[in-house]
Amino acid sequence: MAERKVRVRFAPSPTGPLHIGGVRTALYNYLFARQHGGDFVFRIEDTDSARFVPGAEEYIIEAFKWLGIAFDEGVSFGGQYGPYRQSERRDIYKKYVQQLLDDGKAYIAFDTPEELDAKRSEVENFQYDATTRMQMRNSLTMDKAEVERLVAEGAQYVVRFKIEPGRDVHVDDLIRGDVNINSSILDDKVLYKSADQLPTYHLANIVDDHLMEISHVIRGEEWLPSAPLHVLLYEAFGWTDTMPRFAHLPLLLKPVGNGKLSKRDGDKLGFPVFPLEWHDPQTGAVSSGYREQGYLPEAVVNFLALLGWNPGNDQEMLSMDELVRLFDLSKCSKSGARFDYVKGIWFNHQYLLQKPAGEWVPEFDALLRRQGIESTAEKEAQVVEMMCQKVIEYTDGEGNKKKRNVSFVSDLWPLCRFFFIAPDTYDREDKFVRKNWKDTTAQEMDELVGVLSALDETEFTVDALKDMVEAWCEATGRKPWNAWRVCLVGTGQGPDMYELAAFLGKAETLKRMEAAIAALK
Ligand code: GLU
Repeated sequence: MAERKVRVRFAPSPTGPLHIGGVRTALYNYLFARQHGGDFVFRIEDTDSARFVPGAEEYIIEAFKWLGIAFDEGVSFGGQYGPYRQSERRDIYKKYVQQLLDDGKAYIAFDTPEELDAKRSEVENFQYDATTRMQMRNSLTMDKAEVERLVAEGAQYVVRFKIEPGRDVHVDDLIRGDVNINSSILDDKVLYKSADQLPTYHLANIVDDHLMEISHVIRGEEWLPSAPLHVLLYEAFGWTDTMPRFAHLPLLLKPVGNGKLSKRDGDKLGFPVFPLEWHDPQTGAVSSGYREQGYLPEAVVNFLALLGWNPGNDQEMLSMDELVRLFDLSKCSKSGARFDYVKGIWFNHQYLLQKPAGEWVPEFDALLRRQGIESTAEKEAQVVEMMCQKVIEYTDGEGNKKKRNVSFVSDLWPLCRFFFIAPDTYDREDKFVRKNWKDTTAQEMDELVGVLSALDETEFTVDALKDMVEAWCEATGRKPWNAWRVCLVGTGQGPDMYELAAFLGKAETLKRMEAAIAALK
């Protein structure tokens, strides 16, 4: 058989914001499609109208746009296999439901929810299947004429798949290998409901994958239990030859403890489980998103790609292009992947370090404005250059040497405040101040003011400052740096003193020094 063109799809139901696990599923589909020069289809599975949430579809589209995960066709992208929204494909499904009925592979059932409930309380572990279907109200037990009359009268019914018991059903999974179950454990799944004139997920999903010529179904492990039923449906339709290959991805697990990742884990530990912030249209509740928390999309993509797969070595920093090249579906793990959100923060830090200073400016500027500060793009880029492009080492109020990773642009404010705002008090209780401000220090700083005054405002550059101050140090044996830092920063924090003084300029530098001398004398 000729190799099929790779066509994969991401098929969310618009029932709310996209969970981060769904983002990983879409990413793997995207990588696989790109790698094979295939197509990536975006389909909306909205046959369950009761669970429809307005805004969810738009949210999902915006999330992928932000992440740089692009679709080739589908809802909002167009294409030759549309419509791609299942609620717009009613007539197509009806035809295929009829085909199964005509072939005796499915049957009509009239049992009301009350009747089914009664049965469930009467028979322990009741399942609608080969052992029970002949005791129920359906087209297998009723007169043909009676069935036709009820349907014509508009009685509510469902169409059920007639599963033949005692058969070995094999799902050939690219990640899990041969998954084998006995058909007797399956129930006669509802494929269609007359009440809303729509098929259920199972039928619509299979029919669409077939008609859209999907070659590989790559989806979360939670769909594995449905796969045998799907295999049987392909068989019932006579589509076994073109059945897609399956790949069920490992679950995302809680960062700590057992079980699958949930929104509660995120709330408890303070990380988002959604790509974008989500405003629930019904409750008004707001859930945090990676974008709004200051994550870079490259970092999120890199982080997610490695949850359940790795390139076989310890390379961690992988661009989208590298991921496309290296990704290997068959090397995904079978066991769940722990959602190590701290690693996600680490990735963001790494990507921030790589980002040229100029690219930070819009976000940094927005951050400053929220603090009521207006600065220039040039000054902002300078601060970024001094503070963000490296792991920042600083001495805290207790005099301890510390390192701090800037993982988000918002981390910068407490670290950069002093560039824009002069210290308003000089705290004698601050360990750094106490240690570095002696009885003779005010005198020394006075002298340094004198030295610096000799420079013009325009000469206040890192090099000129360095020459000037170092010559003075050499001549006098002074070591002014820590006390000078107290003057300009108020504590033991910040970049190289010459860089800082050059940034502040002559007037501001001398003003801060004089204020400190007066306060600490
Ligand atoms: N509509 C399903 C979902 O919400 C799609 C499952 C599948 O990919 O088959 O995830």
